[in-house]
Amino acid sequence: MNGAVPVPAVWRAPFDVERLRADFPILRELVRGRRLVYLDNAATTQKPQAVIDSLARVYGQENANIHRGVHFLSELATAAFEDARRAVQRLLNAPDPREIVFVRGTTEAINLVAHSFGRQQVGAGDEIVLSEMEHHSNIVPWQMLCEERGARLRVIPVSDRGELDLDAFERLLGPRTKLVSVVHVSNALGTVNPVRRIVELAHGAGVPVLVDGAQAVAHMPVDVQAIGCDFYAFSGHKVFGPTGIGVLYGRQALLEAMPPYQGGGDMIRSVTFERTTYNDVPHKFEAGTPNIAGAIGLRAAIDYLRRIDLAAMGAYEHDLLEYATEALTCVKGLRVVGTAAEKSGVISFVLDEVHPHDIGTILDQEGVAIRTGHHCCQPLMHRFGVPATARASFALYNTYAEVDALVGALRKVHEVFA
Ligand code: PLP
Repeated sequence: MNGAVPVPAVWRAPFDVERLRADFPILRELVRGRRLVYLDNAATTQKPQAVIDSLARVYGQENANIHRGVHFLSELATAAFEDARRAVQRLLNAPDPREIVFVRGTTEAINLVAHSFGRQQVGAGDEIVLSEMEHHSNIVPWQMLCEERGARLRVIPVSDRGELDLDAFERLLGPRTKLVSVVHVSNALGTVNPVRRIVELAHGAGVPVLVDGAQAVAHMPVDVQAIGCDFYAFSGHKVFGPTGIGVLYGRQALLEAMPPYQGGGDMIRSVTFERTTYNDVPHKFEAGTPNIAGAIGLRAAIDYLRRIDLAAMGAYEHDLLEYATEALTCVKGLRVVGTAAEKSGVISFVLDEVHPHDIGTILDQEGVAIRTGHHCCQPLMHRFGVPATARASFALYNTYAEVDALVGALRKVHEVFA
């Protein structure tokens, strides 16, 4: 049963990437006649067999709607869903499972905060502080709120290396600042932002902080109490779990004070035509039938991660990133965009005279999957004076041989454009 998956002992360092790869069936697939080299993990990660099996088990043996059923399957599904919430709580080291709200993904988590907390707290002349390296999903909801409320965005600048200017950040904090919302790890640059320090500075000015953790959770242990943030958002599909499920962590006192985001079933205590009273958190924010299988699949992904020695994984990914950076820097005409001291998982680059989309297409012919474009970070592309970049993004199952395949395929790009 999903509620009681035993978690085996942690694998031992050195990090055994070949053993891990065997858990991901898609990595055995051929693409255009070649073994897939999947370097588009920032867009979405592949799924281990344990996650695939858990989804099949839900729909094959355990499917029922949750929370209001008195029959066996409904109670089973409810227990598995609420167990998944506790698994997320442990993953993030959140103090209480009621602080974990299931949503569709990072985008919906941020929209929830913008609609609920934002509409309650932000008025004319108020300010929301973001950074220049935010994903569109951490820009547009705030822009929409600002338009509605007559508030404005203030933007932390990014240096040429792709690091946040914390002095400028401090100067942006003022009596009108209602929220700071920043990305933990940039999907376009790979920069790991000093979120703990950002929270310290913001809290010093009495301002709450939302951290967009979409690119962090698959690469490092995340402890919301150590970070000290007020909200933390991530997507299941970027941490080896299913699509359509994600998480908003929010401090309980904040969530309790916030109005609901959507109305419907499950978020109410009682309804009459005169008046509705709302359910307790987190259910107040989970209107309608949630992605039950998605939450249970996410729990399977979390259990999978718990079997891994995260320190060994971090060291391995760090070495892989260094190896890839060095190897790519040796490719003629290649420039890496984003050279922060603290990086994780991502290398963005441009090649002289070659459009990133052409790079992506030629690499695809070699079975190498990367992403090209603005990566939903148009203001950041503007900051670096490029319309787009090519981006290789790594996960725990990538190998040095795959980096070599990437470099080899880039040589083909040169041959085509010579
Ligand atoms: N924030 C960052 C940093 C991202 O990389 C992404 C997705 O690429 C998102 C937010 C949005 O995530 P989702 O599309 O899963 O809601």
